[in-house]
Amino acid sequence: TAFSGDETGDLTPRQTPGVLYSKAIPTPVEQVTLLAWSEELAAELGIQKPEAQQELDILGGNYVAPAMYPYAACYAGHQFGSWAGQLGDGRAITLGEWQTPDGKTMELQLKGAGPTPYSRRADGRAVLRSSVREYLMSEAMHYLGIPTTRALSLVSTGEPVLRDMFYNGNAAYEPGAVVMRAAPSFLRFGNFELLNACKEHEHLRQLVDWTISRYYPHLEGEGKVLAFFKEVVERTASLMVEWQRVGFVHGVMNTDNMSILGLTIDYGPYSFLDDYDPDFTPNTTDLPGRRYAFGKQPSIAYWNLGCLAAALLPLVDKDQLLPALESYKEVYWRKYYTMMGNKLGLGRFKSGDTDLIAQFEKTLAAFKPDMTIFYQLLIDLPLYVGSAAEAAAYFKESLYEDLNEEQQQALYTLVTAYLERLNTNTITRQASQELMRKSNPRFILRNYLLHQAIEGLEKGDPALFGKLQQALKEPYSNKYDEFFETRPGWATQQAGCSM
Ligand code: AMP
Ligand code: MG
Ligand code: MG
Repeated sequence: TAFSGDETGDLTPRQTPGVLYSKAIPTPVEQVTLLAWSEELAAELGIQKPEAQQELDILGGNYVAPAMYPYAACYAGHQFGSWAGQLGDGRAITLGEWQTPDGKTMELQLKGAGPTPYSRRADGRAVLRSSVREYLMSEAMHYLGIPTTRALSLVSTGEPVLRDMFYNGNAAYEPGAVVMRAAPSFLRFGNFELLNACKEHEHLRQLVDWTISRYYPHLEGEGKVLAFFKEVVERTASLMVEWQRVGFVHGVMNTDNMSILGLTIDYGPYSFLDDYDPDFTPNTTDLPGRRYAFGKQPSIAYWNLGCLAAALLPLVDKDQLLPALESYKEVYWRKYYTMMGNKLGLGRFKSGDTDLIAQFEKTLAAFKPDMTIFYQLLIDLPLYVGSAAEAAAYFKESLYEDLNEEQQQALYTLVTAYLERLNTNTITRQASQELMRKSNPRFILRNYLLHQAIEGLEKGDPALFGKLQQALKEPYSNKYDEFFETRPGWATQQAGCSM
């Protein structure tokens, strides 16, 4: 492309004014060993599974093919609500763009392949733990039907990486790894924010024009920048609704982790909810503020879109941008209620449904059952529940603590209201249950399972890792019911932070 880049290949950490990227050759590692390969994604991309060592070496950054042009993108961002200035790909290096057999293009990127000019004080590396987490969860999100970046491969590097250990905070060496990830684009809100902050308005226009022509070509024409922003608003709202549907907490919704395509991007200390707690955050550096807690994600997305709108001010009239930003709320709630209606098997929306949905949220937040198991049980709820005790007994499998009498009564009230509403459904019970089965995952990649799988891999036992790789491909089926249970008492859903 015609973008200004820093072509020096100098990897010294520094500010790079005036450029949108820096050339960054991956730093070779000791030994590239393939740990995982996504057959389905490879088939979509039209890439053969590597066998020769030179091909494998590409996946770990030890070999750069002549057709590749490795670079790190320069971006900025708001982190935890504050302007953070220049950030950039500190441990991600794009190798280039790949043409798929069906005519699409995918950016292929190594994560953990060594320092770039944007590594600041860090090493540009990734540990096996965080790489397994990114590899498995991005694929899991894909099979849940949620927009996300993908992961093609996971390799170990044979090199130790110094990190704070999982729970105790002491520094220790962990095995290193590299993930090759793929997305149509890894552009973030932060790429646009950087150019506005540096008053590089010409570059800003260039990047916006290019983004529209490549990824939003249907918006070309007059008023395209406003239309582009509106569609980012729409896609971001959809993504937030999808995260709410399955109980996904991203954990680090800084604007540099917000995809301009509305994808889930940058898997760090994320977690699924086990017990339904809107205040839960897996990110221990986000306590006690809980800025990025589960229930706050939709409003944080709105705040982040405000940052993007601000970055586009040199290109679009404020009087047009502001209403587009404000439309987020309407778009979000519309999509949210549709999603919840599906989750509850309600069919056509009726007046009163929003109250019922609010009652579900309030009741669940009060006694915090396992979100996934609760909704699975709800699918097969008997059409007559006779008492509060009966209601509590029915949902027992989903509970982390026994319900007191008051809680049992609240559950019974909810169940009664729900059954009354089901009675008025214009779709059949069967159709309603099918809708629920499609909307409620039965298998989720729980944090403690990830933890166990990583421990296994580190000890040379890949059995659980392999099993999770299979299970995540069929999250709506009951084929993997060996995992259909509440989080065990010894476990935690806290992710640990140094990723
Ligand atoms: P994150 O919040 O994890 O998305 O990262 C924020 C910024 O820190 C990004 O610019 C990352 O590229 C950078 N970063 C995170 N981890 C490392 C690392 N190990 N080495 C270099 N840069 C990193
Ligand atoms: Mg990031
Ligand atoms: Mg990260």
